Amino acid sequence: MSMVVNKKLKKRIRIDVDKCNGCRACEMICSAFHATPKYSSNNPERSRIRVMFEPLRNIYVPVYAGEYTASECMGKNEYVIDGKKYDDCGFCRAACPSRTLFHEPDSGLPLKCDMCEDNPPDEEPLCVQWCITDALVYEEYEGEETEEDVKIADVDISMEEMVAKYGLQKVLETVARMAQKG
Ligand code: SF4
Ligand code: SF4
Repeated sequence: MSMVVNKKLKKRIRIDVDKCNGCRACEMICSAFHATPKYSSNNPERSRIRVMFEPLRNIYVPVYAGEYTASECMGKNEYVIDGKKYDDCGFCRAACPSRTLFHEPDSGLPLKCDMCEDNPPDEEPLCVQWCITDALVYEEYEGEETEEDVKIADVDISMEEMVAKYGLQKVLETVARMAQKG
């Protein structure tokens, strides 16, 4: 188990599924904010939040892109809500090789919600600002940071530095070459 090293201000988005009407404004603004150049296009396939959409069953569940996983899970979960069955992987946040969800459509690289971290920071993540029904609510709280969190943050920062130094295209080509060599 990873040791707690710091107290840290943490951020989260609370999702109230009952308030989501499936408008998908969150998907649109997330993909536009992360387009290059910023706001030049929007494509839900590039969004780091996807709304699990089952109008016939009267349910819309916003799901945030979480961690990358190199392999599919060994077992699946079956969800039954109000007597209705839902897709095994429907509520999963992972960028997993078994599906295209949460993968950048051109490069196949995994997508992960970054809470719209920007410079200067916005008061609230954009999907929260654009959600007019308040299904998404931004919260800050004091949490614990473990050694593992610090290591992951270091990897994220060095990836960003590499992209800033060599450009996204160059980094993507290098990662693709390394993946081929296996
Ligand atoms: S913007 Fe809000 S109401 Fe619309 S789909 Fe997203 S979470 Fe649901
Ligand atoms: S917080 Fe930002 S990056 Fe994360 S899903 Fe919402 S708009 Fe996208």
